[in-house]
Amino acid sequence: MSARILDGRTLSKEIRARLFERSLRIRNKGHAPGLAVILVGNDPASKVYVRNKSKACDECGVMSKVFLFPKTVSEHELIELIEELNASNEIDGILVQLPLPAHVNVRNIIGCISVSKDVDGFHLYNVGGLVVGGTIFPPCTPYGVQLLLETAKIEVSGKNVVIVGASNIVGKPMALMLLQKDATVSICHIKTNDLSLYTRLADILIVAAGKPGLITADMVKNDVVVIDVGINRMPDGSITGDVDFDNVKHKASWITPVPGGVGPMTVTMLIENTIRSAELRMSINNLEDTKLEQQNQVYGLSESLSQF
Ligand code: NAP
Repeated sequence: MSARILDGRTLSKEIRARLFERSLRIRNKGHAPGLAVILVGNDPASKVYVRNKSKACDECGVMSKVFLFPKTVSEHELIELIEELNASNEIDGILVQLPLPAHVNVRNIIGCISVSKDVDGFHLYNVGGLVVGGTIFPPCTPYGVQLLLETAKIEVSGKNVVIVGASNIVGKPMALMLLQKDATVSICHIKTNDLSLYTRLADILIVAAGKPGLITADMVKNDVVVIDVGINRMPDGSITGDVDFDNVKHKASWITPVPGGVGPMTVTMLIENTIRSAELRMSINNLEDTKLEQQNQVYGLSESLSQF
């Protein structure tokens, strides 16, 4: 047996074509949807991520502006720029590429982004909204994973979902989203005793630890659905996930490849959030895009934005 592939690259392409149409509708009303990306320092991986985001913006008809700073930049300078962008009519979304240098307090920076432009979904309001319902912009990686599952018609309700990794940007928001969909969710992290005890119980296993080869075939049960969020650059320059894909695929029913699984979906959901922000600002109703619209209703997006 070999698992079916959850192909994020193909799904992203389809979604991006729809996003381009939505962007045209906004442009026809006299506004070009705009994303501002703030990049600090020279981290090569961050530069690649920012380049990919700009390319995806071009593909979807979104104007992107990259603001580059040396790693010596002060918190004050970054906050000044964010305040300017918050007030700008040209900008619908603001993204600060992480990580930031150690002398900059990430929470202070993210906290300055207007909630109505927080298209990465990292502002405390958006994070809190995942707990009580009412998030404006779901964080992009978990949002992309959820769409991959939905598109493949993989039922989540009542399933044992095990998430390996408890970060604020992937593991925790993912858990909250799937809890809202009535899954039974376990979160594992570095201090979890006997990781495989949990992973073997998983109907759906989501791995976001940043450890290549962490999940091996003996750690999963037959027919498990495996979502590998990990992106690890190997010494030979290749990219690999956290799951031993070649062996796990013989036990799984579905599996994401790395690259080509979650990665493209993350970028696509960033553009979706940016276009949604522009639509809400321009009061464009987008009911024909039913899949994303239903998703957004689950999170109460439109209702929440009216408060800001
Ligand atoms: P992170 O902030 O470093 O968090 C990693 C999490 O995994 C932490 O909770 C950590 O536990 C846990 N962990 C580490 N080693 C573990 C182990 N051996 N067993 C169990 N848990 C372990 O990383 P992140 O930002 O969430 O990213 C995780 C991975 O996903 C990275 O490879 C990153 O590049 C990738 N990523 C991919 C996308 C995408 O679009 N595909 C988006 C974001 C991130 P402790 O906190 O207790 O140490």
